[in-house]
Amino acid sequence: MQLDNLYQEVILDHYKHPENKGLATSYDAQVHHINPSCGDEITLNLTLQGQKVSAISWDGVGCSISQASVSIMSSLMMNKELSEAQTILDEFVALMQSKGSGSPDESVLEDAVAFAGVSQYPARIKCALLGWMAFKDASVQAQKKN
Ligand code: ZN
Repeated sequence: MQLDNLYQEVILDHYKHPENKGLATSYDAQVHHINPSCGDEITLNLTLQGQKVSAISWDGVGCSISQASVSIMSSLMMNKELSEAQTILDEFVALMQSKGSGSPDESVLEDAVAFAGVSQYPARIKCALLGWMAFKDASVQAQKKN
């Protein structure tokens, strides 16, 4: 798999120095998602304050794409209103479904544009989406609880 060098660097940097990794002991919702085709696993804890994301923490094992993606997702979603988080999520899912022809909006996705090249590799898309789907699941559960 060849990715743009700069993008590859962003992914490797998050893989080596993940953000928000290490599970918080209190949370509104905890989810565990796996990607059996690659062996990626993550646990994600989410806390909401009203309609705003007030804390995300996670732990996981797996390939660099899955782990970097959840790191980038967690830093993007922190302190966002849920409506804003949904916009970011939709943009990322659309990028992953673009088969390499997407033109990601960097003002929305920030570092997550680094995964643009992954959309050309169907086997890796699930790796990149793992953390984002976990966030979606956790936000639904956290809203039910609140
Ligand atoms: Zn993977």
